[in-house]
Amino acid sequence: MTDLSRRRFLQVTAAGAGVAAAAGGLGAALGAVRPARARGLRTVPTFCDSCFWKCNAIASVADGALWKLEGNPEDPLSRGRLCPRGTGGVGAHADPDRLRAPLLRANVRGEARWTAVTWDEALGHIADKLQTIKARYGPEAVALFSHGLGGTFLKHTLKAYGAVNVAAPSFAQCRGPRDVGFELTFGEGVGSPERTDIANARCLVLIGSHLGENMHNTQVQEFAEAVGAGASIIVVDPRFSIAASKAKHYLPVRPGTDLALVLAWMNVLVTEGLYDREYIAQHGFGFDAFAAELAPWTPEWAFPETGIEPEVIRETAREMARHRPATLVHPGRRASWYGDDAQRSRAIALLNALLGSWGRKGGFYQPASMTVPAYPYPPYPVSTRGKVDSPGKKYPFASEPLTTGIRDATITGKPYPIKGWFVYATNLIQAMPNQAETIAAIQNLDLLVVVDVIGSEIAGWADVVLPEATYLERYDELNVELFREPFVALRQPVVEPPDDQQPNWWIARKLAVKLGLERYYPWKTIEEYLDHRLRGAGLSLDELKQKGVVRGPRPPIYFEDGVTPSFATPSRKIELYSVQLKDAGFDPVPSYTRPEPGPPGAFRLLFGRAPVHSFSRTQTNPVLSQAMAENELWLNAAVATRMGLPSGKRVRLRNQDGVVSEFSIAVRATEAIRPDCVYLVHGFGHSSKMLPSARGRGASDAQLVTRYKTDPVMGGSGMNVNFVTLEQEG
Ligand code: SF4
Repeated sequence: MTDLSRRRFLQVTAAGAGVAAAAGGLGAALGAVRPARARGLRTVPTFCDSCFWKCNAIASVADGALWKLEGNPEDPLSRGRLCPRGTGGVGAHADPDRLRAPLLRANVRGEARWTAVTWDEALGHIADKLQTIKARYGPEAVALFSHGLGGTFLKHTLKAYGAVNVAAPSFAQCRGPRDVGFELTFGEGVGSPERTDIANARCLVLIGSHLGENMHNTQVQEFAEAVGAGASIIVVDPRFSIAASKAKHYLPVRPGTDLALVLAWMNVLVTEGLYDREYIAQHGFGFDAFAAELAPWTPEWAFPETGIEPEVIRETAREMARHRPATLVHPGRRASWYGDDAQRSRAIALLNALLGSWGRKGGFYQPASMTVPAYPYPPYPVSTRGKVDSPGKKYPFASEPLTTGIRDATITGKPYPIKGWFVYATNLIQAMPNQAETIAAIQNLDLLVVVDVIGSEIAGWADVVLPEATYLERYDELNVELFREPFVALRQPVVEPPDDQQPNWWIARKLAVKLGLERYYPWKTIEEYLDHRLRGAGLSLDELKQKGVVRGPRPPIYFEDGVTPSFATPSRKIELYSVQLKDAGFDPVPSYTRPEPGPPGAFRLLFGRAPVHSFSRTQTNPVLSQAMAENELWLNAAVATRMGLPSGKRVRLRNQDGVVSEFSIAVRATEAIRPDCVYLVHGFGHSSKMLPSARGRGASDAQLVTRYKTDPVMGGSGMNVNFVTLEQEG
């Protein structure tokens, strides 16, 4: 990284310095820090789990104690630099709210009263319950909700048992609409990590995507490079984000109207002939019909919808065209906003198509991965009943199972009953909309098992809680990622778990043995499993243990460098006009419907990320919670003055359904947000009694998301459809 881009990176991730300082200060308080010259200093390569990006890290251990985490210089993802949250990951090991032993529910569900038991007792109890459910309802009646790589082995055990309903909130409640919008257009999604060539973009358009706060390490580093290289940044957001502060054009769009803006941009590109004609002629399908559908969506039409002046719409469209094909309209990450999200994401895909950026330098590159053969397991049992989440193909373009569909089936018993839930590393109470529906579903279960490192809200409802070792204390599945260059990475234990926690692979294997499924685990130790897979790729576990990451040769990644364009769509072209959508009863080209307004005087509730937290599990990390202890409510300064709510004043939020936030939140009066919405960082306001260090800090957006609008195309949960009023404390 150049000095300039390093400086920019630190500016973009302003919280970084705070975390580094906190890591030192609090680490000392935790007894985890050792002087640099400590005896017995050793380093262990592994990869981070403070979020899903999986940056490769080097852990330093001094006299047996975890000292610090740094980026692995060999890592193409982190490029030798962890983000603030990754650096602060040291606190996960010393988290005061960690689960310490297996727990069996001692009273009624939800009271969080427990009896500590041995692993043998806990897994024996689960196995007995699973056999009973299988005998009464069939193995399909057990579902798994899972997040991240760590769920691999539990998934394997449950599939061997006969389970078929396996879902992740990261689809329906996060990236799913985006993935489907791009799949419908280009025949494939943008992946994770996204195949965005931000570093080489000459014009970067961010629509509701707050890079820098939404801390995905590679993207933020590339964003800093693009800014340093003078790229034009266009930011569309009701809130003046960190990314907006770097923008040439900041468009404070009216919430819910982004699709209108994208349609108007495309209208300008087509009517002014600014699109990439050659690229579209070569790769596009249905251009004439597409162009005809765009005709009504003029900048003048879009102005009253979006609040963005027609001339600004034209100027920004021309700016994008000037830099094409190195203009990247970023697909974003959490796209589950308003219920028309697959079509909005498809419009973003189409805009990129007009700019010729798919497959091109500065746009979307063609990713590659290492070939590491899977372990040769016996085949899983075949179910004749199918999955429950989208009965009758209710959501015809759902490309992954829907968490909300499994929840519905658990409530209704249709198309067949769901009686057991396994929940791995995801706090379903906060991750899914409408907590009352989640709790209603739980009440119908015969078994709820939660496997996690901390006792978040979903653990409070469990029958059995299994304490997992943190990522710093365990081996995991290999990370074989699709990226701009192929690599394989190893997570390995850095330190021992402090109590009776166990790694996910151990839990999954032991449960399989209790269920009589030993044949699905021909390997006895995880080292044996990993070495077998790595040898299939001409590598070895010993090599990975030393290096942490091994890179493969860099293939061409752009069309202009020799990648052969191919599109896995029905027409084998970029589908500007989608016959498959039309045949399924949807708009073949996205069209706009005005979002429903909220009650008079209420603010639309918006939420997002902060650089030092992700998910529920970082809230109790003592290093990260020192850097950011609670969230604040962004409220327009003029509105705050009118309401007599200066910064720091604490309020509770009441939503349109009368739900009031359990805990109060401090106001941040700022001109950096429109007057018709409020914003807070997701994941705070914990109510779990098992999280004493995080409980009651800030307000929970999840508690207020009682409404959601289901995307008819793919079943995603549009969650930005809730409104709140503010009630002063004291
Ligand atoms: S982006 Fe940060 S938190 Fe996420 S894996 Fe990378 S270093 Fe860890």
